[in-house]
Order: sequence, then C-alpha cells, then structure tokens
Amino acid sequence: GDPFLSVRDLRVHFSTEDGLVKAVDGLSFDLEKGRTLGIVGESGSGKSVTNLSILGLHNPEFANITGQITLDGQELIGAREKTLERLRGNKMAMIFQDPLTALSPFYTVGRQIAEPYMKHTGASKKEARARAIEMLDKVGIPQPKTRVDDYPHQFSGGMRQRAMIAMALVCNPELIIADEPTTALDVTVQAQILDLLKDLQQEFGSAIIFITHDLGVIADMADDIMVMYGGRAVERGTRNEVLHAPRHPYSWGLLSSMPRLTSDVNEKLSPIPGTPPSLLNPPTGCPFHPRCGFTDEVPDGRCASERPELEPGRAAACHLTADQKQTFFIEQIKPR
Ligand code: SF4
Ligand code: MG
Repeated sequence: GDPFLSVRDLRVHFSTEDGLVKAVDGLSFDLEKGRTLGIVGESGSGKSVTNLSILGLHNPEFANITGQITLDGQELIGAREKTLERLRGNKMAMIFQDPLTALSPFYTVGRQIAEPYMKHTGASKKEARARAIEMLDKVGIPQPKTRVDDYPHQFSGGMRQRAMIAMALVCNPELIIADEPTTALDVTVQAQILDLLKDLQQEFGSAIIFITHDLGVIADMADDIMVMYGGRAVERGTRNEVLHAPRHPYSWGLLSSMPRLTSDVNEKLSPIPGTPPSLLNPPTGCPFHPRCGFTDEVPDGRCASERPELEPGRAAACHLTADQKQTFFIEQIKPR
C-alpha cells in the first residue's frame, strides 16, 4: 500500500525583501508507522521548515509551498485550515525544544493536557482530567493526581518537557514530530525522555520524525536517517548504513565532528570548515561544492556545474563513483 507519510518534491520558498529564499527545494521521503526517521543537518538545512510544512504551520501569505505531502492518504498541501487543525494534536503532534513555547504560564498543566483531548475526542471535563492524570503518570511525573493542578512554573525544566510531551501525545497521534526535543536538557533527563518516546512508540505504533544535530541521539533513536543540506536531502539510508558507511562527503564531515560516534578514532576531529550555503543565491552545481574537499576527484568541473540528484532508496547525491565513495570514506574516518 501507500506509505503512511509521503513527501514528494516538496518546495518551500519564502519571498523576502532580498529575494526568494528556497528553504526547501525538492525534497522527497516516505515514513511508515512504527518507524523513526532521523533528520540531521546544520541549521538552515531545511529540517524545521519541512516539518512545519507537514504540520501546515507556515503562513501562506509568506510561504509558497508546492509538491505533495500525503498523510494516511490525505493530501496536506492546500488542505483547509480546519482540516489541518483537526489533524494537529490529534493525528499528528509536535514536540518542541522549548516547552515554554508550547505551555502557557496562565493555565494549569492538567488543563493544558485536558483541553486538546476534549477538543479532539469530545470527552467530558471529568474524563479529560482523568486522562491528563493518566498521561502525566505515563510520562513519569510523580504524584500526578496533585501535580495535575500545578502551573508550569511549579515544574522543573525536565518535568515541563515531560508535560509538553504528555500534551502532544494525549490523543495518541500517529505521527510525532520531535524538533530538538531534548537539546536543552541535561544528559540524564534527556535519556529518560528518549526512552519514554520509544516506549510510547511501542505502545501506539506512531511514526516519529526526529530532528536533531546530535548524531548520538540519532544513533539511539532512528531506524532511518536522512541528511539534509541546503534545503535538500543529500543522503538517505538505514541508521547503520548512514552512520557506519556514509556515502556523501557532507555526511563524512558531520560524522567526523561527532566525538561520541568516533570515539574509537585516535585523531583529533574537526567540524566541517566553511558556512552553510546561501538559500538566496545557492551555489551552482552541487550545493556542497564550496566546502567539499573532493571536487578535484570529479572530472570536468561537474561539482560546480551539475547538481547531483538523490536517487530513491539508499542513496547519496554526489558525483563521486561508488568506489570513490567507499575508498574516500575509509581514508577519512579510519585511523591512519
Ligand atoms: Fe563533493 Fe562533488 Fe560530491 Fe558535491 S558532488 S559532495 S562537491 S564530490
Ligand atoms: Mg531548527
């Protein structure tokens, strides 16, 4: 059958005073239920813009969105705001980095969890309160029956993050989009929240899109990985394929800058030199070519003149040959 979530040739362009910003420029991927897709890339790579598009959260006055986003057979691009509102919080939910952007300081935590539940399921106030307590318990808030009446400022940072997750998941969404959900938390709380997300996925069979720049977290969470650069996917594969045998020079740079994954390597590792590409005046050819150390390996200056496409399935958008991709990766990553 059709994939649960299917994104085809997504383009998100913003008109600005300086010109057209191509924040996402031709992105395609699928996601099945029960699986987690990790999206990695620097800021400005289009990760967050992609996910706000899925949720229908861009202002159509400023964003020109084309392509297809199909969720469980329903087309989301151009869907009516009413339809999107019904889907948000119910069928799809977002977990943000900062719980304070999602939680209002003026209402109790319990009320904020109960409200979307009443709205989407038609439950009574009493039922929704019971559900809020159940959710607080599920996300590991101690004494949920009393804490349900607390205001967000009475919670610690980690507890607020859990409360936000409880709010996002109260209607058992089938698609969860988590954008840097644990970045602001200390390592212990981060690990607890990641475990919690995994448990909830087991229980509800949700599909998860997990955005982070932390490859350690991706290694822990993702079934599949998509690496984004300059508004496009440059590499796609299973977690093991992308983490242990990456094929794109940009992925090599990302991996090399992640000490946790390469701790068996004795040499000093450094982040990728250079800056992310301009989305106003993107480089010609391969968008990574101004930062890539392998352009001389590709004949006829093709890196600067011809944009490499990402083929479907396990793939990397790069002009290097399959042999070169393997050889250069080994030379890059393995100790000399
Ligand atoms: Fe580097 Fe050329 Fe491959 Fe782009 S196409 S990643 S510039 S080798
Ligand atoms: Mg972001």
